[in-house]
Amino acid sequence: MDITVIGCWGAYPEKNEATSGYLVECEGSRILLDCGSGVLSRLQNHCALEELDALVLTHMHADHMADVYSLEFAILILMQIGKRSKPLDVYVNEVELGSLAFEYPDYVRVHPIRAGEELTIGQVRLQFSETVHEIPCLAVKLTARDGKTLVYSGDTGYCQAMIDFSRSADVLLIESSFYDFQAGRMNGHLTAGEAGKIAALAGVGQTILTHFPHYGDLNQLVMEASRHYTGQVRLAFCDMQINI
Ligand SMILES: [Zn+2]
Ligand SMILES: [Zn+2]
Repeated sequence: MDITVIGCWGAYPEKNEATSGYLVECEGSRILLDCGSGVLSRLQNHCALEELDALVLTHMHADHMADVYSLEFAILILMQIGKRSKPLDVYVNEVELGSLAFEYPDYVRVHPIRAGEELTIGQVRLQFSETVHEIPCLAVKLTARDGKTLVYSGDTGYCQAMIDFSRSADVLLIESSFYDFQAGRMNGHLTAGEAGKIAALAGVGQTILTHFPHYGDLNQLVMEASRHYTGQVRLAFCDMQINI
């Protein structure tokens, strides 16, 4: 399984970068996890839009879905000029179906997903778990045929469900929106220390912090997570590649 970080910022993209977007390539399938601001442009450095199979949206905040309507137009045009042969499959929380406003169902096939459900895209197994956030949000786990697993938290506050869902994942890609000194200021997001605690209690193989604040020294996030988790902790960065 190859994971490429397309964007790693919370809220809005830094110059020439993107908010949440992660490309997973596995067993011939190309799956995009979230499609925030700037993702559609940067994605094309790694994957031709003709070849993208599916998009999974964790939730409907703009920093996770701002580019979906531009993506719909890209699929429409590529199909109309014969460069792409099939619609894009878009997976979205069933309770958020009403907030999606795709206009061209011939080009985008929307599939409802729910916590506890299991589905496959190509040879990749996907599972979902509800997180603690201001609006409904699903964390997602991808399992390859060889058993390797990636868990992506989406946006979440600290909760036991996230620990259980992340259990023994090879890679935990987890939001780290705040520094430890900000603990308790905002529900529905994690401090780096909380992200490290989840990683430690779940016994994951390695941890990638993402969904960053736009201030402070991001290296401090790694130090704060490492106070709890003794495995490898790294900061996500634009175009980062992880192979498991
Ligand atoms: Zn977010
Ligand atoms: Zn959010």
